[in-house]
Amino acid sequence: MTTPVYENFINGHFLKNQTGDTFAVKNPATDEVIYHVEIADEFIQNAAIESAKQGFAAWSAMTPIERSRILLKAVAILRERNDELAKVEVLDTGKPWQEAECVDVETGADVIEYFAGLAPAQVGQQQMVGNDFYYTRKEPLGICAGIGAWNYPLQIACWKSGPALAAGNAVIFKPSEETPLGAIKLAEIFIEAGVPAGVFNVVQGAAEVGQWLTANPNIEKVSFTGEVGTGKKVMASAAGSLKDVTMELGGKSPLLVFDDADVSQAVSAAMLGNFYTQGEICTNCTRIYVHKNVYQQFIDELKTRTEQNIIAGDPMDPEVNLGALISKKHQELVLGYIDKGVQEGATLLTGGKALSPASAPNGYFVEPTVFVDCKDDMTIVKEEIFGPVMSVLVFDDEDDVIQRANDTHLGLAAGVFTKDIQRAHRVIHQLQAGICWINSYGNSPAEMPVGGYKQSGIGRENGIETLDHYTQTKSIYVGMSNIESPF
Ligand code: NDP
Repeated sequence: MTTPVYENFINGHFLKNQTGDTFAVKNPATDEVIYHVEIADEFIQNAAIESAKQGFAAWSAMTPIERSRILLKAVAILRERNDELAKVEVLDTGKPWQEAECVDVETGADVIEYFAGLAPAQVGQQQMVGNDFYYTRKEPLGICAGIGAWNYPLQIACWKSGPALAAGNAVIFKPSEETPLGAIKLAEIFIEAGVPAGVFNVVQGAAEVGQWLTANPNIEKVSFTGEVGTGKKVMASAAGSLKDVTMELGGKSPLLVFDDADVSQAVSAAMLGNFYTQGEICTNCTRIYVHKNVYQQFIDELKTRTEQNIIAGDPMDPEVNLGALISKKHQELVLGYIDKGVQEGATLLTGGKALSPASAPNGYFVEPTVFVDCKDDMTIVKEEIFGPVMSVLVFDDEDDVIQRANDTHLGLAAGVFTKDIQRAHRVIHQLQAGICWINSYGNSPAEMPVGGYKQSGIGRENGIETLDHYTQTKSIYVGMSNIESPF
């Protein structure tokens, strides 16, 4: 059986490249090639820029309320097609259907809906200066590039296009080459909803295509989601034409469990924050600091629930709650970190091996893995693993655990479990992270700004302030009296 070949999506339709070069996309749960995608060659790249220029001219000329109405139509189509789109995400990423069916499309649609609602509410200022006055306009930036990671492909495309399009920009989006289909589906939906051709374009390929986007002088902004190291390259390249950047990067986030916490709730949070999407979530709380008084209770319950309640297998099976990692290479990387943890003296409480479930024997699965007896300087405690691997550490002093939690160059997220309301806020205010939870972990509604401290990122996604990251302020001074000139 021949597999489909997807072309790049430019100016409202699929466009064939000239080189004929393609890449293959595999289903991580089966190791089978499911389709091919054409790489954006020079012809496609030039066409994408021309298309986005035309798209920008048409889209930015519309009133915000017209744009809003069209985007809300796209939101309705996304929701109508939830199951079809969720299936695309499951086959591309290996994540469980039970997640994609209620999270991936839904949270993407929410963000477009949120910014569609905000678009008409964006206003400038006016102020008198003597008899003269000035006013400001919020103008779109122009062509914005979005570069996405592979863990939430459609959601990332929605989170980047929502505010960009609401503010009147055009977008050229490059999904990860591991998961290219979700963005194409979104492009088709935008066209169906009435977004003019050229406003949202999808170019396909690996790092070279990303590099072209970051270096291209016609592009005003790059919004990037990916690893810290790639983020640094993207920012350096974007600096060549002084582009605005938003960076959503990796993390190694701490969760602090105090001895007055509801331990079962804290275990739930720890499991969600390490095993949901098989651990491939940037905000995961991969360093769990547990107070010594509840440590034994915490790890006993964690071990039992991890061994009894996690079902790995064919991700399309609605019972399955642990899917396959994105690629063989990534599976090997995660297993390499587990070996390193053992070598450096951590103890495996549970898991630690590759998995070959009967319903998906060729998938890239890794057992849900918990390390105890961890030390702050171990590799598994310091580096982002991006798989189902949790490190548990012990503490007994509040100030000390805050200092340990902050002792990292990353600062994406953090969490605290305690029933003491004063301690909860006191501690969370001292944690150096951009996304924080108290007695909760992982929720990220459209209304809440998200982004990292330190090397975990620059700028924010979601929330009102993000619209400012996709507009520029024009100040206009109006003279109301004759000019006094010495010349
Ligand atoms: P990568 O950094 O490897 O890739 C991200 C994207 O950048 C991909 O589309 C990739 O293309 C592209 N790319 C690679 N090199 C370059 C380059 N030199 N210039 C421009 N673009 C380039 O990240 P992953 O895809 O592996 O995603 C996992 C990472 O993403 C983790 O670190 C995770 O923490 C982070 N992440 C952060 C989130 C946040 O909101 N803070 C959310 C989700 C993930 P290709 O893959 O095709 O090679």
